Amino acid sequence: MKKFHKNLNRAIEVSKQSTFRRGRVGAVIADRSGNILAESYNIQKTHPMQKEFADKASQKHGDSNMSSKIFLHAEIAAIISLTRAFGDPHVIYVARTLQNGLPAIAKPCGICSIAIKEAGIKNIVYTEDSDDGFSYTVKEY
Ligand SMILES: [Zn+2]
Repeated sequence: MKKFHKNLNRAIEVSKQSTFRRGRVGAVIADRSGNILAESYNIQKTHPMQKEFADKASQKHGDSNMSSKIFLHAEIAAIISLTRAFGDPHVIYVARTLQNGLPAIAKPCGICSIAIKEAGIKNIVYTEDSDDGFSYTVKEY
């Protein structure tokens, strides 16, 4: 439980590194014991893996708009930096931080949900809108 909060806090810290003005998102991937395997934030840069999952989501949801979402999302950026040899990804922590520093809802989009599932990640923890700075939801696949 201690690591749970530590990792969620880490995702909040990582989100603050994002230069994306409209939404700063951070993602941390940990194994079953809570050890961090990878972390990243959303980047205003295209990436072929983002495009691949955007196309998959577009097909799945019948929404051609999704194909245009090719800037790297934090969740997919973290999945890209996962080194499989170093552990078994089990949970992803996703945090979004507003300009005033408070966390906001960071539920993964349809594109990232596919990528998370394909990476074998079983649990998603994401921040919720909160005035006191700490509210979250845990989702299991
Ligand atoms: Zn996404």
